[in-house]
Amino acid sequence: MSSKPGIRARLWLAAALPTVLVVVALLWVFLSRYAEDLTEAWQERARVAATQLAGAAEFPLFANDIETLQRLVEASHKGDSQLRAVKVFDRDGRLLVSAGTLQGGLLPLEARVQLEISGERLTVLVPIEGSPAARVDLFQETTGLGLPQPDATTPRGFVLMQFGLESLERRRSELLAWALAATLGAMLLATLLSTAIASRVTRPIGQISLVVQRIASGSLDARTNPQHCGALSGLAQGVNEMAQQVAMTQQELRQQVELATRELREQKEAAERAARLDALTQVLGRRGFTEQAHTEIQRSMRYQHPLSLLMIDIDHFKTINDTHGHATGDAVLLHFAQLLARELRENDMIGRIGGEEFAVLLPNSNAEQAARVAERMREAVANSQIHVRGQPLHFTASFGVAEFQAQELSLESLMARADAALYEAKRQGRNRVLLANPPGV
Ligand code: GH3
Ligand code: MG
Ligand code: MG
Repeated sequence: MSSKPGIRARLWLAAALPTVLVVVALLWVFLSRYAEDLTEAWQERARVAATQLAGAAEFPLFANDIETLQRLVEASHKGDSQLRAVKVFDRDGRLLVSAGTLQGGLLPLEARVQLEISGERLTVLVPIEGSPAARVDLFQETTGLGLPQPDATTPRGFVLMQFGLESLERRRSELLAWALAATLGAMLLATLLSTAIASRVTRPIGQISLVVQRIASGSLDARTNPQHCGALSGLAQGVNEMAQQVAMTQQELRQQVELATRELREQKEAAERAARLDALTQVLGRRGFTEQAHTEIQRSMRYQHPLSLLMIDIDHFKTINDTHGHATGDAVLLHFAQLLARELRENDMIGRIGGEEFAVLLPNSNAEQAARVAERMREAVANSQIHVRGQPLHFTASFGVAEFQAQELSLESLMARADAALYEAKRQGRNRVLLANPPGV
């Protein structure tokens, strides 16, 4: 989840930055245009006021009526709260009347309108020019003299007005404050909107990536909730379907692997069984018998139970083979194994460990009990017969019996003692059961 704040910040920037930039640019254009318009309006207002006063002052100036001029100047000074100073000069620049206090220097007295803005002051100078026709008529009527007309191009005098620009500045400050407030508002709105957008995208992404991580770590039952993923519900649905597909594929694979494993195990077990069993008699072979006998010896030592071993050999088997053929010999072997097995209990074990030589392991049996089992077997063999081409065939077997002794520690020693007893039984005339000597004798 380490990339989540990064994504969120970037999404936020992508959504908010353009909005803020556009708002700031629009405000800047609007502000500068509005400030220009405001200044121009003020200049126009000053020019109009000064021109009006110049018009009104024309006749008193001509008539050299200083008193009227003074009243005019004072009236216009009182009538405008922004007006700081009003002065009227004659054509030679002599101050005729004045109201208020002028700050800064005079403007040069020229025959054109002049405007100057410095600091918080707007100063305007307007020439007083008479309308020639009216002036001539009036001149002739009042004087009756044909005096030469005054020069129409040079002004008769000048009106100078100075306005304070505090209210303009105040308007500007107000405007700036509004602009700032609007910018901040826009930024706030953009922030809220982009945060909402960012979280609408990042929260589902966070949820989906959590689920993907869980799936990757093996929890194939992990699912997203597409209803909570808003615009990314399609992606969430896709993740769910993918997880389901993966789970199905994995289950199929697992089933196939299980099937193959079971088949392999069965084949292996069958092969092992076959390797352990003797093909002709289906009792354990030498290897299978010794393996299981080792285990039984360990068990009887651990629990200190008695355990005995019989070594059994068919008497004169070679003669049977020689007289009746190898196939009859095989039939005798099979029959013999079945006779022995019939006398065994559940935990007893029988194995064919040589040509016509068998071994029987009897857990929980001491020498005496084992000798009784061997005797029963010997009788069963001696009393049985098989038929060869309609003729009964009798045969016998000899038995050596040994009980496992704790001090001998090995199966080989036990087998050797039982074998020695068997050899002795053969030597004494066959068809008998003989007990082995204790170890070391
Ligand atoms: P003893 O009474 O002293 O045991 O004499 P014996 O003839 O039984 O013993 P010997 O060891 O001389 O002969 C064993 C014979 O068993 C020799 C061998 O040909 C035969 N034989 C070994 N394995 C098989 C087999 O699988 N089938 C058959 N038919 N004969 C076998
Ligand atoms: Mg033999
Ligand atoms: Mg034999």
